[in-house]
Amino acid sequence: MTITSPSAVGGPALPQRRELVTEIPGPRSREILARKSAAVPRGVGITVPVFVVAAGGGVLLDVDGNSLIDLGSGIAVTTVGNAAPEVVAAIVDQAQAFTHTCFMITGYEGYVAVAEALNRLAPGDHEKRTALFNSGAEAVENAVKIARAATGRSAVVAFDHAYHGRTNLTMALTAKAMPYKSGFGPFASEVYRAPMSYPFRDGGLDGAEAARRAITQIEKQIGAQSLAAILIEPIQGEGGFIVPADGFLPALAAWAAANGVVLIADEVQTGFARTGAMFACEHEGVVPDLIVTAKGIAGGLPLSAVTGRADLLDAVHPGGLGGTYGGNPIACAAALAAIDRYEHGGLVERAREIGAILRGRLDAMRAADPRIGDVRGRGAMIAAEFVDPASGEPDAALAARVAAAAHAEGVVVLTCGTFGNVIRFLPPLSIGDELLVEGLDVVRSALETS
Ligand SMILES: *Cc1c(COP(=O)(O)O)cnc(C)c1O
Repeated sequence: MTITSPSAVGGPALPQRRELVTEIPGPRSREILARKSAAVPRGVGITVPVFVVAAGGGVLLDVDGNSLIDLGSGIAVTTVGNAAPEVVAAIVDQAQAFTHTCFMITGYEGYVAVAEALNRLAPGDHEKRTALFNSGAEAVENAVKIARAATGRSAVVAFDHAYHGRTNLTMALTAKAMPYKSGFGPFASEVYRAPMSYPFRDGGLDGAEAARRAITQIEKQIGAQSLAAILIEPIQGEGGFIVPADGFLPALAAWAAANGVVLIADEVQTGFARTGAMFACEHEGVVPDLIVTAKGIAGGLPLSAVTGRADLLDAVHPGGLGGTYGGNPIACAAALAAIDRYEHGGLVERAREIGAILRGRLDAMRAADPRIGDVRGRGAMIAAEFVDPASGEPDAALAARVAAAAHAEGVVVLTCGTFGNVIRFLPPLSIGDELLVEGLDVVRSALETS
């Protein structure tokens, strides 16, 4: 067995430049890709078919020596920076001390400290609790378990374009069939879908009107007395970086509070400084009953959390929540270091600066090219939606061509959206302005030739 070892250090020590020394993918990546095809099922896809040996700042270094600009952060995970030195040091220290006990068997302080940090940082100054898990989907499932146990009700509402994960319950909660659900049913019951506020595509409904439309449907088709929870991404991620109209989230929150329905904010993608606030709910002053976090929480280590009202989390009987690895000590150490950077490293402000650069560039591209129908998002979570200028219909083929052209030039961008016609930008907050601008210039050229 051959394993390519890192040929350079990662983290900020990695030279911050885009440099292609082979085509993408290069010969060494192609070799590993062939092994991947023989060893890994095709259901596990790779967006940019290169294999990485080091990463940091705003770049990914591949096995062929190509240095790519990272505008995806491994889907909003390495927000604090890839191999961020403080995170790496915390991981090394903890790994040398102990790697696992199972928190449900014998405890350790790191788990408690992460819970305290999340209780302090999550919106609202009420008493809170936090339980830790491994993945975003697992945390979403547990938020639903908690809401059902606390309310004694079973129905859950999720929204059009929602993405909540790939496990059975979260597939049911996720809207898009292909590739997430198709062929994988039957799905969990008592999941209902409500219309989202999607300003670019819902005929200009304002936030209050869109909320009334959703609430009427919920009241008529489910009934508040059967509803345990409303689950919503404050800005939808996989669904297309859809920012609901102002007032939509506060109106849903008010209705949920008045009806004893648990409001669960899925901030797995939006959390931890990404949107220019510690959590996206803060932009509209919404205080969710439960908030689900993962992705950016631990600088790349698998960790997720449900944080929220103490009375809700404590409604679950002892032993009702947990898992073998949930709150692994190395992941907790990484999270404490990452959270310290989010709080004290100026990263919320940095996300806003990055957002201003992204917006400025993308708005200019839109002004020059009517195939960009919409530019939206907040902070370092911005997207462009591609359309047929004549009809306004989604143009997924164009988004795919632009993304492929950017990849070939060494810029990692991701597509998303129910219609597949959105390119999203999720740079690590450790990227420098020059590299970010260079990456966006490559995308602009890609659009011009697509
Ligand atoms: C990625 C994501 C999830 C699922 O997280 P996993 O760690 O992949 O299970 C859930 N909700 C949102 C909003 C996400 O972006």
